[in-house]
Amino acid sequence: MAGEPQADCLFCKIVAGEVPATVVRETETTVAFRDINPQAPTHVLVIPKVHHPDAASLAAAEPQIAADILREAGHVAADEGVDASGYRVVFNTGSGAGQTVFHAHAHVLGGRGLNWPPG
Ligand code: C5P
Repeated sequence: MAGEPQADCLFCKIVAGEVPATVVRETETTVAFRDINPQAPTHVLVIPKVHHPDAASLAAAEPQIAADILREAGHVAADEGVDASGYRVVFNTGSGAGQTVFHAHAHVLGGRGLNWPPG
């Protein structure tokens, strides 16, 4: 059922504490943890505790939790001290865009210059 934990989902396992992660923030609905392969000095993932395969399906099914993700991304940026210099929030959606984990997540990237357009 939509939103239920998936046995084969890495991020559901992080939510359950079955796979370790460096958690920096947690709320009733979200977890934020450091990306294991950081692409910037600050690279934190913000995920919903419920399982949805991507950001759009999360927003369609549970819009309040999608809003929680965006709010938490802002809190991460402030906690990391990158809010003043600028940061990026990225939702890779689909394998063609680089999505490798099919549990909705926001990348929060900052602490270095970020080019536009992205690669
Ligand atoms: O957008 P994409 O699906 O590629 O993002 C998945 C991210 O999850 C990657 O940046 C990867 O480094 C990260 N990851 C992680 N911890 C794991 C496995 C993957 O932070 N155990």
